Amino acid sequence: MRTLSAFNKFTNTLKEQDLIMPVLFIGHGSPMNGIEDNEFSQRWTKMAKEMPVPAAVLVISAHWFTKGTLITAMEFPQTIHDFGGFPKALYDVKYPAPGNPALAKETAALIHTAHVIPDHDWGLDHGTWTVVRHMYPDANIPVLQLSIDYTKPPQHHFNLAKELYSLRKKGVLIIGSGNMIHNLGMVAWDKINGPAYGYDWTLQLNEKFKQLILSSDYNQLINYDRLGKEGKLAIPTPEHYLPLLYTLGLKGSSDNPGIFNDKAVAGSLTMTSVKLCPA
Ligand code: ZN
Repeated sequence: MRTLSAFNKFTNTLKEQDLIMPVLFIGHGSPMNGIEDNEFSQRWTKMAKEMPVPAAVLVISAHWFTKGTLITAMEFPQTIHDFGGFPKALYDVKYPAPGNPALAKETAALIHTAHVIPDHDWGLDHGTWTVVRHMYPDANIPVLQLSIDYTKPPQHHFNLAKELYSLRKKGVLIIGSGNMIHNLGMVAWDKINGPAYGYDWTLQLNEKFKQLILSSDYNQLINYDRLGKEGKLAIPTPEHYLPLLYTLGLKGSSDNPGIFNDKAVAGSLTMTSVKLCPA
């Protein structure tokens, strides 16, 4: 495994590297994936081992949906248990990765399509820690979150992501964390722990999304509100879908798209995930 020397823990500054970090979109699914050893969490662990060790991780999580754009800027982000009705073992989890205030400031300065506000109140929500703790269990890599401004249209998020591209050259792993298809109101709860199961429209749209991602044809993905009845079923609210547009907006000309955790769960959810990696 290649280790980046970019992160200097004494100065908190990142230097540009020859290496360009991959970008991920991860379908995070149920918060229980945070403590379960299952096919999804195993893939997250393996994914981290297949990539260079990042200097820092920046997550755009479905669960930080705000008015305006914020970035976590504290030295020690708290672990947020932003869900209800789960076993105590899930609430007991702490993921004590440090933040990186200098990187927060640097990231905010890169973004011109929005005025980015440094945040000292949030932390790491379950869209981040349920995934990242499987990837970097030692919690020794700084983790930051960038929020999603709910007042802005999809194209804005895609464009904003492009401004983050230079972070990939500084060893920052950027992860969009959501679910491409996410309709909690239609979940078949009796099948939540069963084998893969998707409604017909889920499976059809999952195939369409994959085909568009693999052919780097993003217009229909950005304009998802024109996908008709199936689109409205798949994306009744945008927060779990929009992290995908951040990932796709970060695609460079030499990146190859790949798909992993390609599964429908409980009828109306997909775990389908994306890796963009330089050839
Ligand atoms: Zn979620």
